[in-house]
Amino acid sequence: MAPRRWSGEVVEMPAGRLHAVNGAGLILGRALCLAPVTLLDPRDWRWPNDGDEDWPLCWICLTLTHSPS
Ligand SMILES: [Zn+2]
Repeated sequence: MAPRRWSGEVVEMPAGRLHAVNGAGLILGRALCLAPVTLLDPRDWRWPNDGDEDWPLCWICLTLTHSPS
């Protein structure tokens, strides 16, 4: 965990790259890449679609979420 600025406040957030999580992952606490993830209150939080320079997406999740089906 690491302090991050969020909505004008400094809050504790998971450090490192973001992971994508699907419905099953929300129950299991696992990202698409099977990394364990810290689940956050969805009322306070949503995953950015593509990350940014401060919030890079895990490349495995990025590949999995952007692969053609
Ligand atoms: Zn990931």
